[in-house]
Amino acid sequence: MQNKYPLLKNINNHALKSLNVQGLLLIAGPCAVEDYAKTLDVAKFLKSNNIEYLRAGAFKPRTSVHDFQGLGLEGLEILKKVKEETNIKIVTEITDVSYLNAYDFVDIIQVGARNMQNFSLLSALGKTKKPILLKRGFGNTLDEWLRAAEYIVAQGNPNIILCERGIKTFENSTRNTLDISSVALIKEYLNVPVIVDPSHSAGRADIIPALSKASIAVGADGLIIEVHHNPKKSISDSQQALDYETFKKLLKNIQE
Ligand code: PEP
Ligand code: MN
Repeated sequence: MQNKYPLLKNINNHALKSLNVQGLLLIAGPCAVEDYAKTLDVAKFLKSNNIEYLRAGAFKPRTSVHDFQGLGLEGLEILKKVKEETNIKIVTEITDVSYLNAYDFVDIIQVGARNMQNFSLLSALGKTKKPILLKRGFGNTLDEWLRAAEYIVAQGNPNIILCERGIKTFENSTRNTLDISSVALIKEYLNVPVIVDPSHSAGRADIIPALSKASIAVGADGLIIEVHHNPKKSISDSQQALDYETFKKLLKNIQE
């Protein structure tokens, strides 16, 4: 497997080292930036629970054009202000390379499942020095995912973090099927960081604590979890967002 991906062979967990991650890389936050007050609230909550990374989407690539598309540049401004106020690190998705300049303050740039094979976007991000969180496409094989990651490295950026977020299968009791085999294979054969997103894998809140534990057991380097102060009111992905109390319990559970 190593020889198939020459550019991933010598990555040596670069991103985790450059971010100085001790233990698990834990990222949490709402699906989308909804407004300043709510984003600040969740940032303070995460900080008080020693979570260093807030993830919230300003640009949301939605399956339906009728759904909330995110606040766009205004959302990025909100994230910037929240960072200034709380000192929390920011993870947020990029969907259009023409906005790259607006991501200077962002600590980890996310490439979403729908853009995993957007090769011009990947190459542009490869020219930056930013850590890139590359989500697996829900219709892509492990091989396609790793080859997509190589597009970033090929331009000189070894700062990649893979994110398994579930794939489409015939199973319909969950939104996607969490493919923990991919995590096991990456950890067995490559030194590339990989984290798991149990939220989009499950699409439901009830099994997220269990999937989180399974991910860590299989060797994941971290987790990205959707958390909202009032999940029922979350504008997007409300069924899978954890409330603060459940998230706190999950943290306790995985840190045991
Ligand atoms: C998200 O992270 O909110 C998201 C849209 O995820 P994905 O790209 O994995 O569907
Ligand atoms: Mn989401």
